[in-house]
This record gives sequence, C-alpha cells and structure tokens, in this order.
Amino acid sequence: MIQQLQQIFRSVTKSLEVLYVIEGVKPCARILAFEDEIGKVTDFLSENGIFAAVSGFKVAKQSAQSGFYSDKSIKIPKDSAEKGYFFVYLSKNRETAEKARLAEEKNNHAELGLLLGYPKCCCGFFEKNFNEKNTDLTLKTLENSNGYEFPFHNNIAARHFDVSLLSHFPHNFQCEPSMEIAKNNLRVIKNYSEQIAAMFSGILQGVVVYTMNEGIFLLRKYEKIGNEIIYGDVLATTKSKLYYLLSSNKKLKIIDKNSFFIEAINVKGKDYGVMVFA
Ligand SMILES: [Zn+2]
Repeated sequence: MIQQLQQIFRSVTKSLEVLYVIEGVKPCARILAFEDEIGKVTDFLSENGIFAAVSGFKVAKQSAQSGFYSDKSIKIPKDSAEKGYFFVYLSKNRETAEKARLAEEKNNHAELGLLLGYPKCCCGFFEKNFNEKNTDLTLKTLENSNGYEFPFHNNIAARHFDVSLLSHFPHNFQCEPSMEIAKNNLRVIKNYSEQIAAMFSGILQGVVVYTMNEGIFLLRKYEKIGNEIIYGDVLATTKSKLYYLLSSNKKLKIIDKNSFFIEAINVKGKDYGVMVFA
C-alpha cells in the first residue's frame, strides 16, 4: 500500500498523510500536488473513498514536500501559465475537506490546524508565531522547550529528509498531545511496513543541529556521555562550513539548547539549536 501511494504521491511523508486519512487516524490532510498530476491524485482518492477539495490558487515552488508549512512558496493564480502545485485537502468527510480549503483561503491558520487534527496548544502557537518572514518555527518550538533532550516522536527536524511522524510544529518538544498523534501514526506505519517503521524510529532518534542559515544536520549513531556527544555519520541539508566542522570532528559538547562546542569553537546564539532525541 505505501509503495502504491508513493508512486502517486512521491514522498514518503506525503504518502503517509494520505494513509492516516484512509486509516481514520487523521480527520483531514493537506498535501501539495503538481498540477499535471491533479487528475491522477483525485482519481486515486475517490477510488479509496476519500473526498478531495482543491485550492483555488496554486503555488510555485522548488520541491513539493509534505503538508508542512515551512517551505517557502509563492502563490500564483490558478490559470497562470507558470506550472505550479495545488493544495489538496482530503478527508473521509466532504464537509471537512471543503472547510479546510476555505480556512486556508481566508488565511485562518488556527481553524485550518484544528480541522487537520492538530492539538489546540500547537494551533495557538502556530497562529501566534507564523508569518511570511517566519515560516520555519522549529527554533521557536525549541525556545519554548525545557532543556535539550526530547522524545523522538516529536522530532520534526528530520522532515527535511522526508522522515517525520508529525506534520505540524509542536508548541514545544515535550508536547503530550503531539506525542500521542506521533505514536498513533507510528502504529499505522508499522501495520503496513515494519521496515519503514524501523527506519523512521532509527532516523528520528538522533542528535539534531538546527540553524537558521547554515543548514540542518542529523548526527547519527550517537553516544551520549554526560553532555558530550560522539557520533557517526552526518545527514545534512547543505554542505556549509558548519557541516565540515561537524563531519570532521564527530564529537561535540553541549552547553545548553542554543550553545555547543566543537573542539575549541563555541557555536551559539538564537539562530542555533541543538537537540537530543531519544
Ligand atoms: Zn502542543
């Protein structure tokens, strides 16, 4: 099933969004679909008893990730010659899909979030912090969190590598309702593919270095001794200076969630986050 979904929806996380709706653990999902593939997508959904509402505008973007808000995208008119992606709101309930489409049209983030089944605490957090200039709230979530050690279920940083059990920003990394959603989702994945479930759990349990302008890094196969982290390979969104520093040292010392040492270099500030997901 997941393989079949991937043929149509391409990314794993996007395919899973559809699966959660089919399985009834998510009331409604919002995904991006390339305009040339809209027919294929809506055909598949209706064959599986899912209603789909399609946005009245499209967006131009580099790559179509999951339903996450974080990707920067530019709205363009529906009939623009430029190729783009439509938002598709899908639900087993026609009214819910339609309501989600309207909520986005009215820019009502909080209502949209609730329709998509996200926790109230996180919808409020999103409403308060999200704007055109601030589209990735990961470091804001960290700011609201205590310490730097969190349950792996709430690791949303790995979404940059198409791995995530959540498609919203938790209001903090300890958010209980978010964890419940993630655990339910993991259960659904496991029912369909032990292999994907194991791969997800493996990647989500790692150390994350999250920066505003120098990339996002997953430090894999880590060992934690006190506040020292020794790690194996580094997954990176970009090969910045920091990437070379991280991948050539394999060891860092955490001071707090916004400060760590690699050898004698202290990387710190609000634009840098370090998190241990276990
Ligand atoms: Zn929350």
